[in-house]
Amino acid sequence: MRRSALDKYICELEGLPALSREALEALQLRRLNELLSREKARGGFYRGLPAGVGSLAELSALPFTTAEELSANAPGLLLTSQAEVERIISGVTSGTTGPAKRVFYTRRDLEHTVGFFAAGISEFTSPGDSVLIAMPFSGPDGLGELICRAVASLGANPVRAGVGRSLGELAGLTRRFSPAAYIGMSVPLLGLLRYMGRSSLSRALVSGDACPEGVCAGIERLLGTRLFPHYGSREMCLGGAVTCAAHSGMHIRENHILVEIVDKNGRVLPDGERGELVITTLDMEAMPLIRYRTGDVARIVPGPCACGCVCRRLERVSRAEDVMERLDSALFRLPGLVDYRASLGPDGALLLDAVGSVRAGQLEEACAALGFAARAKVRPVSAGFRGSYPGKRSLTEAAAAQPV
Ligand SMILES: [Zn+2]
Repeated sequence: MRRSALDKYICELEGLPALSREALEALQLRRLNELLSREKARGGFYRGLPAGVGSLAELSALPFTTAEELSANAPGLLLTSQAEVERIISGVTSGTTGPAKRVFYTRRDLEHTVGFFAAGISEFTSPGDSVLIAMPFSGPDGLGELICRAVASLGANPVRAGVGRSLGELAGLTRRFSPAAYIGMSVPLLGLLRYMGRSSLSRALVSGDACPEGVCAGIERLLGTRLFPHYGSREMCLGGAVTCAAHSGMHIRENHILVEIVDKNGRVLPDGERGELVITTLDMEAMPLIRYRTGDVARIVPGPCACGCVCRRLERVSRAEDVMERLDSALFRLPGLVDYRASLGPDGALLLDAVGSVRAGQLEEACAALGFAARAKVRPVSAGFRGSYPGKRSLTEAAAAQPV
């Protein structure tokens, strides 16, 4: 098997002749200690932590950082001057109240992300390919533009689709530019493939939302190739872990991000066990985080990868609240379903507003098999359909429910 591009990227960036577990962990320990001493020197948010540790194992004795602390302390968490900050991402996760989480990046932080993206994308993209990018475009250093720069650095052609386009518009872009690959969320891709039928698309990287098993299986059947899932979040400067040619989990960019999996009491779990994903962003210049609890659930795939890369692998990352993911996984196994919106009715039944050629009874039966009472209505798909959700998929509460 071809050597993973991530391995090559890390060796080049860090000046290492070869990537071994020992070399990677020595780098992580050095970075962790540099970070702890930077915090002390600058009187940062983490100034109360020890100025250094003797081993990576000692990380588990340090306190966690929560999403609430991140929301309340963004300026205190910043380790550079405001002038060095290239981009601020802020936002409130749906369903929560209180101050928005703000995350800052420097030019160097963003360039690291572009390099990591390019390594991941090169696993399925060749020079001259066109790549349809169905991710948000929100300014010069937004996610969409960072992906474009990574694609262009490989000699491939980015096609800026963005999010919120209709199926007809996306099909038009696909006919016009004949993209070989797609980068975007999984459910919109499955809906597009089902709407278009045959197309030039044959490979895809899915990210930005959960990757339910039934959805991925449906996409892989239509593309005729295995998917390249990616996991990232704003807290890790958007790029975190990406799939190699072995398709056996997502390799973490461990030169920049240290990952732990913990149980609900905060105890570190061994590789192979599922628990909450905790990240330490070792080499972020603007806003490094120490032991940040992501609220996402994942496991580390134990043992070495067939591709030879020694970076550890994350398997299927889920949100802690995964009802929508379970529904998506089951319902999208029905081949006629293009998309649907789910809400919880006042009587506790699920209300499904679906698009496609599936029958309402089939959707209701699939929900019943998961233990949910449901009432569904189905509309035929049209060229003007723009998707049931503008971003991440979630079950809405009764107040927002549309009568069925
Ligand atoms: Zn691998």
